[in-house]
Amino acid sequence: MREIKAGPQHTSDELKELLAEPLEFKVQHSLRVIDAWYKAHDGNVFVAFSGGKDSTILLHLVRSIHPDVKAVFANTGLEYPEIMAFAKSHDNVDVVVPKKKFPAVLAEDGFPIINKKQARTIAKLQNPTKRNFNSRRLSLIGYSATKGTWNKGSKVSNKWMPIAFSDVRPTQACCDYLKKDPIQQWRKENKGMYGFNGMMMGEGNTRDLKLGLRPCNAFDSKEPTSIPLKFWTDKDVYEYAEKYDVEICSVYADYDLNRTGCTFCAYGAENEDPENNRFTKLKTSHPKQYDYFINRLGMGKALDYAGVAYGQEPKHGKPEQPHYRCVGCGREYLMNSIGFITEREWTETEEVEKPNTAGMQLWCKECAANHGFPAYS
Ligand code: SF4
Ligand SMILES: [Zn+2]
Repeated sequence: MREIKAGPQHTSDELKELLAEPLEFKVQHSLRVIDAWYKAHDGNVFVAFSGGKDSTILLHLVRSIHPDVKAVFANTGLEYPEIMAFAKSHDNVDVVVPKKKFPAVLAEDGFPIINKKQARTIAKLQNPTKRNFNSRRLSLIGYSATKGTWNKGSKVSNKWMPIAFSDVRPTQACCDYLKKDPIQQWRKENKGMYGFNGMMMGEGNTRDLKLGLRPCNAFDSKEPTSIPLKFWTDKDVYEYAEKYDVEICSVYADYDLNRTGCTFCAYGAENEDPENNRFTKLKTSHPKQYDYFINRLGMGKALDYAGVAYGQEPKHGKPEQPHYRCVGCGREYLMNSIGFITEREWTETEEVEKPNTAGMQLWCKECAANHGFPAYS
């Protein structure tokens, strides 16, 4: 049988080929990955179990060769009740709960909207300090002071710049509070067990291919995890469930879902069908929770700003692209068209109001060129 290489050496074409392999090829590969992880850690391993279809299949695979492996379910408080009941119906499942709950995350940190990467970039900009000038500049124009290079991917995209300057705060920290920290705490209490995770490359789009570049067993990573289903697709998951008679939680069929997880997570929701997305479905299926999060905890406004439909007329217009005044020529420009940014002392007003651009001099493209500042390349 053809061996699957461990990781980063795959080219995109190879990864696409692997995604197209038949189920049994992938099963054998996953079992080898699982066994290697189990043996490397003397059996001190667990399955991060969400009750969703992927981790259900993963748990089945793991326990088909090592039946005593524990599953850990992070109860974020945002799961479908059916998913919780389903997860708890399995043997040997530890349930962990977050110290900080979702309403506190929304109030103190912000909303899980757009995506984690943009939320992280925006959060830096929205929390200006005298020490984070460089990272705020990176967020605004993509210029890295340490490398002296321009990286567009590190910048708030033009589309989301208006939100970065609005009163809505996107957050990247929600998963840390609700999932990662409770599982880390559990690991500490359980002598540093090593986790299996059901992440899959999906259908092979660019983001998914990035996941493909990491090894299935990341022994040396800062956060070592094993992802034995890396090359699996949804089709493989359902095929496996049928072939090996594994029960998948009923929510997928009951609510016409292709994903589960946190019901009120809005990451990526702007890309769904506005007539029939996760929130319009929740309005019908879970009206009380819907009303609580959307109307009482202010998610409606964050969704309006992010252009996500939720089955009500938007009450808040989308914020507009902000402007700045060029420190050189004094003319006004759109925030998505900055030539360069230099540092200066914070003004007294900035000390109090802490705007995103505190301690910054913004130059238009023409003035930046005239001053010989690093040019976008
Ligand atoms: S999936 Fe979304 S809602 Fe759930 S913990 Fe992560 S960011 Fe928060
Ligand atoms: Zn100018």
